[in-house]
Amino acid sequence: MRCPYCRHPDSRVVDSREADDGQLIRRRRSCPECGKRFTTVEEAVLAVVKRSGVTEPFSRTKITTGVRKACQGRPVDDDDIALLAQKVEETVRAKGAAEVPSHDVGLAILGPLRDLDEVAYLRFASVYRSFESLSDFEREIETLRAAAAARLEGTAHAVVNAETRTK
Ligand SMILES: [Zn+2]
Repeated sequence: MRCPYCRHPDSRVVDSREADDGQLIRRRRSCPECGKRFTTVEEAVLAVVKRSGVTEPFSRTKITTGVRKACQGRPVDDDDIALLAQKVEETVRAKGAAEVPSHDVGLAILGPLRDLDEVAYLRFASVYRSFESLSDFEREIETLRAAAAARLEGTAHAVVNAETRTK
């Protein structure tokens, strides 16, 4: 590894430590030329297999870009999108596989995006699930309504339970 300070082409590892439950290794390195120390991080490359069979390295930026497109004009800020992309990466990496189908990455986006903004979710789902007609949208909206109603009911139950408990 080249020294980032003096560009010397070699460096010496002085310490290695696992981080993130063994997902990555941090190495402390020392430059024999200028004596400065720096840290490198080693992590297995997660490959995404596209439908065509072509693989490409997993990219959080790609997720951010896709989700931002779906969120255009919606009250969603960059922090929300960054957090969502982080969640998606965690979900995908948690499977522990070296390769994931791009389909699974899309699936991992749908859940958190639905929680974030339903309109953005519909836009994303329509592309991802290749909606072909209005009835595809109608079905998805029905599902969203049912989920929202279930959430409301859940909240109502929680309130009732809380009230019963305080009595
Ligand atoms: Zn150096």
